[in-house]
Amino acid sequence: MTETNDQYQDIRDAVRDLCSQFPDEYFRKIDETRGYPEAFVDALTQAGWLAALIPQEYGGSGLGLTEASIIMEEINRSGGNSGACHGQMYNMGTLLRHGSEAQKRHYLPKIASGELRLQSMGVTEPTTGTDTTKIKTTAVRKGDRYVINGQKVWISRVQHSDLMILLARTTPLSDVTKKSEGMSIFLVDLRDAIGKGLTVQPILNMVNHETNELFFDNLEIPAENLIGEEGKGFKYILDGLNAERTLIAAECIGDGYWFIDRVTKYVKDRQVFGRPIGQNQGVQFPIARAFVNIEAANLMRFDAARRFDAHEACGAQANMAKMLAADASWEAANACLQFHGGFGFACEYDVERKFRETRLYQVAPISTNLILSYVAEHMLGLPRSF
Ligand SMILES: Cc1cc2nc3c(=O)[nH]c(=O)nc-3n(C[C@H](O)[C@H](O)[C@H](O)COP(=O)(O)OP(=O)(O)OC[C@H]3O[C@@H](n4cnc5c(N)ncnc54)[C@H](O)[C@@H]3O)c2cc1C
Repeated sequence: MTETNDQYQDIRDAVRDLCSQFPDEYFRKIDETRGYPEAFVDALTQAGWLAALIPQEYGGSGLGLTEASIIMEEINRSGGNSGACHGQMYNMGTLLRHGSEAQKRHYLPKIASGELRLQSMGVTEPTTGTDTTKIKTTAVRKGDRYVINGQKVWISRVQHSDLMILLARTTPLSDVTKKSEGMSIFLVDLRDAIGKGLTVQPILNMVNHETNELFFDNLEIPAENLIGEEGKGFKYILDGLNAERTLIAAECIGDGYWFIDRVTKYVKDRQVFGRPIGQNQGVQFPIARAFVNIEAANLMRFDAARRFDAHEACGAQANMAKMLAADASWEAANACLQFHGGFGFACEYDVERKFRETRLYQVAPISTNLILSYVAEHMLGLPRSF
């Protein structure tokens, strides 16, 4: 394995130790059967790793984003896929930052223990896509309830979650002065909602990611499930994205090292034309280049995490880290598949599975184009394009 020698070695060793109980065959079987890694997620939960970001006073371990990102990195580096459970780590951030003390006392300790799973966040809609302020799902206050109508798409882990954070319009777009106003965040108890106004339609997809289309038809939720102030939901969602992007950058870094480890080993062993294929510079250079790019992306990931932990502005770094890490892991994935030759396509090598899994991060949770657009507008001062 490519070496790590940093101050987080204790966390790395402990997570690696847990992951070693879930070898390649485990994740391969889950992928083959389109299953969900229940046993793995349970083990992570019981060991407390998914409660890393919950403060100790609410039952978590109160670690920083840097340490949390090491946990995610190590899962992917071991051959697993944090995408099955990373929501449990960061979705509670919205509640932690903007929830009332009563909400935090009620939910966070149960989320920390795993008794409640808050793995889902419903933002994306089929007809509006990345243009979030145009969402059409509405929440209308009626007495002590909100009534929700609309549709969401690509909402992950709903079938393995008890709670979901939901973004809905509470004031019509035509009645607000700024398009980012008039949206609100709610905590939806999925156990009460499914079948009583909420229908969940699973979406089969290339990465065996548990993700769904949601249909809301007069779903009623208690008014007390509003998080923070009505109308400020878009800002609250944005507040949470820096943590999500930094953690996903770390997952891509973990994937990147996994690809480099696998391909390096393979090209040293594989003999063609009477010598290891890794002796050819045509083979060495793409692998070396991908490795260099992973190392560079890793610096940006640590910069983003350090800034987040120091409560400094980190939006630019979180976005750039996510883009650089996703690009680097994708480059490493291509080199790894290429130099495995035909064997790269065989499921038993796990390369094709990881190749598919890491490809997702060019598109979700934010596509590369949208990051470039953010950099152009907010860092370079170029004219706003939308
Ligand atoms: C497996 C999976 C899991 C997901 N999980 C969740 C989840 O749990 N919760 C949730 O809310 N969402 C989730 N998503 C949705 C995800 O965040 C979106 O797919 C993503 O933000 C892109 O939105 P879209 O698919 O609507 O693409 P679109 O907005 O339709 O964009 C399509 C393409 O056009 C490009 N594009 C669009 N506008 C511009 C522009 N102005 N300039 C340049 N290029 C542009 C984009 O880069 C993109 O590649 C998930 C998606 C997937 C695939």
